[in-house]
Amino acid sequence: MKTDPVIPPDLLEHLYDGIYILGRDRKIVFWNQAAGRISGYPSAETLGKSCHDHILTHLDDEGQNICHTPLCPIDQAFSDGKIHDTQAFLQHKDGYRVPVEIRTVPVLDARGEIERVVEIFREYLLPEATRQRIEELEKLALIDSLTGLANRRFAEITIGSRLAETQRNIWPFGLLFLDIDNFKGINDSFGHDAGDRALMMIAKTLINTLRPYDFVSRWGGEEFVVLIVNVNREKLLKVAEKLRLFMEKSTFPLGGTRRRVTVSIGAALARPEDTPESIVKRADQAMYRCKQTGRNCIRIEEGS
Ligand code: GH3
Ligand code: MG
Ligand code: MG
Repeated sequence: MKTDPVIPPDLLEHLYDGIYILGRDRKIVFWNQAAGRISGYPSAETLGKSCHDHILTHLDDEGQNICHTPLCPIDQAFSDGKIHDTQAFLQHKDGYRVPVEIRTVPVLDARGEIERVVEIFREYLLPEATRQRIEELEKLALIDSLTGLANRRFAEITIGSRLAETQRNIWPFGLLFLDIDNFKGINDSFGHDAGDRALMMIAKTLINTLRPYDFVSRWGGEEFVVLIVNVNREKLLKVAEKLRLFMEKSTFPLGGTRRRVTVSIGAALARPEDTPESIVKRADQAMYRCKQTGRNCIRIEEGS
């Protein structure tokens, strides 16, 4: 292919979209600045690495790793020579998940064989209305300053209004109570700042992997409460398992290595007679059963 003299050779560096190029051996031969901004990895840390190295682990909407599966858009482009569009969650260098739209484009050599695949990716941005709402809530002291999530007070108000809707048979909803496993150990071994970094990674991953109309809050310390609207038992368990998997497969940087944290999740479905305290208590008790049976698991309230 001839290069058009009007197109500057460093054009790819100036695009808003992240772009990287892989050879047949799946090694990265090009990585632009936007790829560095979105993922947190500068090109110096990615060139020559294989796309299967953990820097690029992509999860699908259900928290499953798509590397080495038929869903991998790079493998698809290498095998059928077509353009593929997909959505996935990449892992930022700081550990949290970023939702991205991906396009993979095969590039042919002079003999018509696939020599390279270009991956173009961009993150979904927060709509302007959501951003403005967050600023208003910050002013009302309803936002947790460390994580940017709704705080406990905001969560109690929201659970109350969702229960009122449930009692009028509008929206059934479920509540998930997440507690980080062995979190004291992270603080004790690596310091409070390391613990704070883990909390921020978890908060960002929750916000980035749930739907915009679900509700995420920091209940206190290392506990998070999530409301999932319009669910039955089966769907609630599916979301809980997805969150568990996203945490298990995410890491955050710590003293030159990467650490992993897991969570225990208790689930409860709203009942007509519930108060904010009663539904949170049932989910908390279910979470406690995870702690008794080894942690890094999900449990739903008894009798549901
Ligand atoms: P388990 O698996 O049973 O939940 O064990 P755990 O160590 O996570 O539970 P425990 O309740 O004993 O410890 C919670 C710890 O969370 C205690 C406290 O040091 C830590 N923590 C609470 N809030 C914060 C915070 O804002 N920042 C940091 N870094 N740590 C916090
Ligand atoms: Mg706790
Ligand atoms: Mg804990």
